[in-house]
Amino acid sequence: MRFELAERVKNLPPYLFARIDSMKAEAVKRGMDIIDLSIGDPDIPTPGHIVEAMREAVKKPENHRYPSYEGMPSFREAVSEWYRRRFGVNLDPEREVLSLIGSKEGIGHISLAFVNPSDVVLCPSPGYPVYHIGTLFAGGHPHFLPLIEENDFFPDLDSIPEEILSRTKMLFLNYPNNPTTQVATEEFFRKAVDFASKHNIILCHDAAYSEIYFDNNRPISILQIEGAKEVAVEFHSLSKTYNMTGWRIGFVVGNEEVIKGLGKIKTNLDSGVFQAIQEASIVALKTEDSILSSLRQTYQQRRDLLYKGLKEIGLDVKRPLATFYLWAKVPEGFTSEEFTIHLLQKAGVLTTPGNGFGEPGEGYIRFALTTSLQRIEEAVQRIKESL
Ligand SMILES: *Cc1c(COP(=O)(O)O)cnc(C)c1O
Repeated sequence: MRFELAERVKNLPPYLFARIDSMKAEAVKRGMDIIDLSIGDPDIPTPGHIVEAMREAVKKPENHRYPSYEGMPSFREAVSEWYRRRFGVNLDPEREVLSLIGSKEGIGHISLAFVNPSDVVLCPSPGYPVYHIGTLFAGGHPHFLPLIEENDFFPDLDSIPEEILSRTKMLFLNYPNNPTTQVATEEFFRKAVDFASKHNIILCHDAAYSEIYFDNNRPISILQIEGAKEVAVEFHSLSKTYNMTGWRIGFVVGNEEVIKGLGKIKTNLDSGVFQAIQEASIVALKTEDSILSSLRQTYQQRRDLLYKGLKEIGLDVKRPLATFYLWAKVPEGFTSEEFTIHLLQKAGVLTTPGNGFGEPGEGYIRFALTTSLQRIEEAVQRIKESL
């Protein structure tokens, strides 16, 4: 029997990391010691008090049944309280907060609620692939907005052709940004909100890295901008903040109409987040600042070590103010892929080629800070020797 894939799957862009994945597998097979600086997944375990809360929550029979679609009232209340405390933004837990099975789930599904075939969705490039893939699955048309150094890694919203704008339904933004590490200014967010209002566009802001910041420079929420709730929703995740990538819980907050639309899709596709995870997440959202600042301290030490090391080697690298990545230019004479392969084969260091996040990422590679200081130090040494 032959089962042909649906067009939407057949038409997926080629998986750019496939070649590097197989080279990594080969190197491992040859017994090479690989230092993996490619993973966007924290290496540190979930804090103990959250695991303990889960242990208790999982014992309760009432948590073994179907959860509510939109999230438990107590979870949505905790999200609203966290927003008030962290950003000074007030949210109605009933209408302006929705639980997600990880923020990826909501980002991937929102196009189904609002995008008709041939509608345009503006997606940053380089960027998290789910923005444009979700658009394609809904039959929409992604239009890429280059994030380049000349524009401080902000999209040039004024240069989008009128013909595109007239068909645009949605805009994705992501700050602190993966992969460029850029942090948004209030001025840029204001501009984006004005732009979305003027053109009647839904603004989806992905704030997955809002709590992974350095030097006490706390990133702002787009909902702090006056009028943002008229056009914007913000996606959040417990994944990066609390080392909970495996737990699958996130949330979206902001514009009531947009949240209701996404909720309609979810009601018909999934059945919400396991209640025990929601209960543990309520505890997570109340985590003491001292625990979080110690996590940030760990990333900051790693950032300082890797940044200094790469600079000394002579790489042109942007000093990140947030996220757990470094965005570096590849040396002259290399493409992103060539330099990634060079580092893998000559130094045993695995990174991510920038063009894998979109064509404007060509000429860059991404390093992740998700490994120990000792391994980072060794990676720097090996890279130095390989050049
Ligand atoms: C990790 C990540 C997410 C989402 O993670 P979830 O685990 O699905 O909540 C969203 N956006 C970006 C840019 C990310 O890097």
